[in-house]
Amino acid sequence: MFESLSEKLSGIFEGLTRRGALSADDVNASMREVRRALLEADVSLEVVRTFVEKVRERAVGADVVKSVTPGQMVIKIVNDVLIDTLGDTADPISLDAAPPVAIMMVGLQGAGKTTTTAKIAKRLKDRHKSKVLMASLDVKRPAAQEQLAILGRQVGVDTLPIVAGQSPVQIARRAEEAARLQGYDVVMFDTAGRTHIDEPLMAEMAEIKTAARPHEILLVADALTGQDAVNLAKSFNERVGITGIVLTRIDGDGRGGAALSMRSVTGKPIKLIGTGEKMDALEDFHPQRIANRILGMGDIVSLVERAAETIDAKEAMKIAEKMKKGKFDLDDLSNQLAQMEKLGGLGGIMGMLPGMGKMKDQLAAAGMNDGMIKRQRAIISSMTKLERRNPDILKNSRKKRIAAGSGTKVEELNRLLKQHRQMADMMKMMGGAGAKRGALGKMASMFGM
Ligand code: GDP
Repeated sequence: MFESLSEKLSGIFEGLTRRGALSADDVNASMREVRRALLEADVSLEVVRTFVEKVRERAVGADVVKSVTPGQMVIKIVNDVLIDTLGDTADPISLDAAPPVAIMMVGLQGAGKTTTTAKIAKRLKDRHKSKVLMASLDVKRPAAQEQLAILGRQVGVDTLPIVAGQSPVQIARRAEEAARLQGYDVVMFDTAGRTHIDEPLMAEMAEIKTAARPHEILLVADALTGQDAVNLAKSFNERVGITGIVLTRIDGDGRGGAALSMRSVTGKPIKLIGTGEKMDALEDFHPQRIANRILGMGDIVSLVERAAETIDAKEAMKIAEKMKKGKFDLDDLSNQLAQMEKLGGLGGIMGMLPGMGKMKDQLAAAGMNDGMIKRQRAIISSMTKLERRNPDILKNSRKKRIAAGSGTKVEELNRLLKQHRQMADMMKMMGGAGAKRGALGKMASMFGM
């Protein structure tokens, strides 16, 4: 997400922080670079102008040139202006209306509308315990209604039974009535898309809006289309009126132009972002966290949240108990590796930790990747219970047997043992006063570096 923009900005700021003192010329030069980086990221010209102007103003006001750490000061200001531009605070979907709360999804074909409808329904069911009914109003594409029904079954959310020959407005009315009579909390309308905006599409949306009286109208737009997505949101807002935007395919978006321009150009908030094809690849849009990601500061908060959702709390407690007692055996390591895989593997975790973007490349160069995690788990599962509890008994013949059994090499087993020893030592240290090392150092030693 936003890798290319992030890389450029980090490069610019690296140059700044390395200097002891900054002159006005330094700041001006780096602002020119920031401007170029934003334009290359396909951020709208108007937004870039305002952005750079705001940074310059604040930089002058903050007396950057005389500040003790001027480089950091500039980064802080850029960070603040980024957050401003992205919309300041998170703006989640509102359910603040009499049930059934109607949510209407609009957008072009292929933007991810149907997928996002199901993702949102799943999230409302899981997190808000809402009873959700979904209805597809797409009567143009023959398989559209069936596609939503399939996704509905997959995520365990009801869809309105399909009745052939009805118009979108008729389906909308039927859905609203069914939701009301059957006590649903939320009813979601997945509307038809087109390959481009045209008058009949807009007219149909306006008509559905009148019939469905939605509390939220969410435009689903593909982040990869950059400024087109922004213009699309503008048109939809002017013609139909939208309450928010869901930006999909953020996972493939290195540039971030749409995300950065959307709020300023349309005046509407990005409420959610789609981060993959899976049904749980949907995240709240937190301007602060996104700004941190763009500036290469990682996103610890999101990582922690994801961890809280995926990690088995009981298992984690058990491991924590053992750690306290200084007993961290290979079974525990294997469990931890499994949790890492669940969190999206090494790559997924690293991308969210501050300063880890570069570290990821270094790790990959050293042969540390998700394949390694799998092999390490295979090695551990080839050991006997006794060996897992007491790795000290592993001498040559046992090692050869384990390597053969797991299809790996003895060197790899040795590396794993060393890593385990270091982790166990670190656990002890973390309990005591020795826990003064930075996150990077701790992380590095966990991977045997
Ligand atoms: P619709 O025509 O707007 O309803 O689009 P669909 O919901 O059918 O989605 C089109 C394709 O985009 C599907 O293959 C989805 O899996 C994919 N897709 C949707 N959202 C995302 C996302 O956030 N990331 C990625 N990588 N793919 C997505």
